[in-house]
Amino acid sequence: MSTDSGGRVAFATAAFWVLLTGTVFAATDTMVPTQNYGNYCGNANVCQTDNRDLTYYMDSGGTYELELIDRDFVRTAVSSDYGPTDLVISYDSSPSFSGSAETDHIWQEGSTGIASDAVGMAWCDDSVSGWSCDQHYIRIRGNGYYTSSTTCHEMGHGVGLVHGTQAYPQRSNADVAAMGCMTTPSASGDLGTNNFNNINATY
Ligand SMILES: [Zn+2]
Repeated sequence: MSTDSGGRVAFATAAFWVLLTGTVFAATDTMVPTQNYGNYCGNANVCQTDNRDLTYYMDSGGTYELELIDRDFVRTAVSSDYGPTDLVISYDSSPSFSGSAETDHIWQEGSTGIASDAVGMAWCDDSVSGWSCDQHYIRIRGNGYYTSSTTCHEMGHGVGLVHGTQAYPQRSNADVAAMGCMTTPSASGDLGTNNFNNINATY
């Protein structure tokens, strides 16, 4: 019961904040930086992408090539989850890996460097300033680990979404209502309204 009560108090505070400021304030802040996630944008941290125009590329050869079924799950996340947001997403068939306008998301299939208890990871390869990153890599294991929930989840990290315990107010990592596909272990294939609102408030 104490957890429930705490949640209600925190929510009431958030609602009051709307009255005070008149600005949009999502019920749960899931966009980096939150009051519970205060690191800088770096290689091991979750970062925002550098602007609302988001280009992506799926590795098309070599060690980390995506198979057709993996590509379909990425396309689904792009079209169904993130397409309806304010992000303007397009495929970049001639990706750029250097300079000031790199392809924003590089998708890979593979397990190199992924923790034994994780199915995938997303990391910033080229932080810009503050909370922005020019290029994220998104890598998910093969052999069935590409799903609607894992692609939605890892792409979420690539635009700055965090886990429940890093959100503010803090949520359970399994709280689907607040966290959508950012639950961990990933338990939902839907971005969810709260993450949708956080993205549109940022980009
Ligand atoms: Zn995650």
